[in-house]
Amino acid sequence: MSKMKQIEIECPKCGETQRVDYWESINVDLDPSLRKQLFDAEINFFSCEFCAYEAVVNGPLFYHDMTRKFCIQYLPEYWLEDVSNFECYHTDGSLETFVNFSTMGIGHRSRPHVVFDIEELLRYILFREMLYDRDMVEKKKMVAGMLH
Ligand SMILES: [Zn+2]
Repeated sequence: MSKMKQIEIECPKCGETQRVDYWESINVDLDPSLRKQLFDAEINFFSCEFCAYEAVVNGPLFYHDMTRKFCIQYLPEYWLEDVSNFECYHTDGSLETFVNFSTMGIGHRSRPHVVFDIEELLRYILFREMLYDRDMVEKKKMVAGMLH
């Protein structure tokens, strides 16, 4: 499920406070348009209503692709400065969750690939999509081979 909340932001340029949509989590199977918005740098993007100043809202973002079975957690670099930010992580980097995702066949949900850079997030998405597409082609060839 995708999760968006409105947060109050004080414009670093003009100082005016305003509400901004902030996505904590996006699920690209349920909301495919969010993938495009992410690649177009429109997710968690702040554009001041008063002075048009533009900036990225640099907060954690969880990316979930259910079809290709992968999750990525983007964490901003400043998160590393406070260990209490990682309370929800086990020593091995997996997520502490109340739900046992493994029994639901979505174990990847509790083992996100963690990145600290948005560019890296985008590259990793493309990498996983290419792997998936490659294997889909292989599977189609195998099926076609069996039919002959
Ligand atoms: Zn402003």
